[in-house]
Amino acid sequence: MAIVIEKDQGIKSELEDQVGLECPYCGVFAHMQPQSVPDASSLLRDKPKHVGLVYKCDACNAPVFLRFAVRQYEENKVELYRNFVELERPKERFAFSYLPKHTEVLFREALSCYSNNNFNAFASMCRRAGVSAFSALGEGGKLRAFEEVMVAQDIAGIEDDAFAPVKKVLFGTGTHEELPLLNRAQAGILLEVLKDMFYQCFVRRGKLTRAIKVRRFFVTEANNDSAQSA
Ligand SMILES: [Zn+2]
Repeated sequence: MAIVIEKDQGIKSELEDQVGLECPYCGVFAHMQPQSVPDASSLLRDKPKHVGLVYKCDACNAPVFLRFAVRQYEENKVELYRNFVELERPKERFAFSYLPKHTEVLFREALSCYSNNNFNAFASMCRRAGVSAFSALGEGGKLRAFEEVMVAQDIAGIEDDAFAPVKKVLFGTGTHEELPLLNRAQAGILLEVLKDMFYQCFVRRGKLTRAIKVRRFFVTEANNDSAQSA
């Protein structure tokens, strides 16, 4: 099931050249069609170990760069492995502006580790972001955050076994060396739980106070107007 680039004929593959992945631009899991394929004769001349192709997202038409390893060079064609490396990964989004500055810096780096599949670097940065958030919340902050996370576990129905590493990363008191090793699935749970914890502790309060402030402002303005016209 290799992808083949033939001299004078371009790309050929048994699976209709398509790949499916989450688009780094629109975030949709979409089919990608090859848009820009390197010239076979120059590949056959230089014989690079890796080859870059540009695909086009079916959902938003954005160009998506993928890198393939070369399986073999033949006389008139280049065969590539089907596995590829995504040069741009989808970014995780969050309403960062509501977080305390220090927490924001650490959480941005945590999400960048996650987007690049570095799940244990991600876990370490989650610990740091969490500690920074607890201190920003002040006395009792850690306990409050812990309660939010317990509620999240309950709402999402996450089993205790699956949840233990997440709790240990966020609320453990040991050193970084004692952090559990996380796989992709556990890192995914940690990501959603920490986003929810930050939402409950900072974003919700920030949005609500801002919205109420705006409402009060318009009420005061309206009162001033009616006082003037009276
Ligand atoms: Zn797209």
